[in-house]
Amino acid sequence: MTIGIDSSSKPAYGTLAWRPARQHVVVSDEAGLVAIERLLATPCPTGSGSMCIHVLGRESRTGFLPKAPETGFELHADEAGFSGALSARMDALPAAARLYVAGSESFLSLVRRLARDRGLAEDVMLAERAGAGARRAQCVHCKTVYEGIAHRAFDCPRCGVTLVVRDHYSRRIGAYQAVVLHPSDPNISALRQEAL
Ligand SMILES: [Zn+2]
Repeated sequence: MTIGIDSSSKPAYGTLAWRPARQHVVVSDEAGLVAIERLLATPCPTGSGSMCIHVLGRESRTGFLPKAPETGFELHADEAGFSGALSARMDALPAAARLYVAGSESFLSLVRRLARDRGLAEDVMLAERAGAGARRAQCVHCKTVYEGIAHRAFDCPRCGVTLVVRDHYSRRIGAYQAVVLHPSDPNISALRQEAL
């Protein structure tokens, strides 16, 4: 997939599948574990390539993952540790490497920012959005970014208004834009129920 830095449209996520590479870096949060498990269950076409796995989450959730000595596995309990380790991994990537990322919208956007900061080529990263359709949304008025917004309409506590999450995704901010709904809008209650 192509990840443009300045373009701002809804990102297209596919289903993760192996690509030829000398190194495979598999990255996931807890929501993405299902996708990672599915990927790891398929044979990797380049058996000679090395593989390492980075998971942001709790150990109790990762029991199924291969902990074979030839597979580097790192579990990170917090985002700072995860970001540091993955950044170091990115700095050491060989030319023919692939990054497979699965997780929530906010997790994907975190990894994308790290990759951009490390100057990774855009086509190195493959992403699959997993878990509930919760989004990272930004109130366009006060610029507050809210994580895990699950419904089309929600309240911004700072502005004291009801917002509607648009399908416009800002790659620069890594969030969907949320704009004010007029209080008399007849669709408010329906939009509060609409799952993203
Ligand atoms: Zn606001």
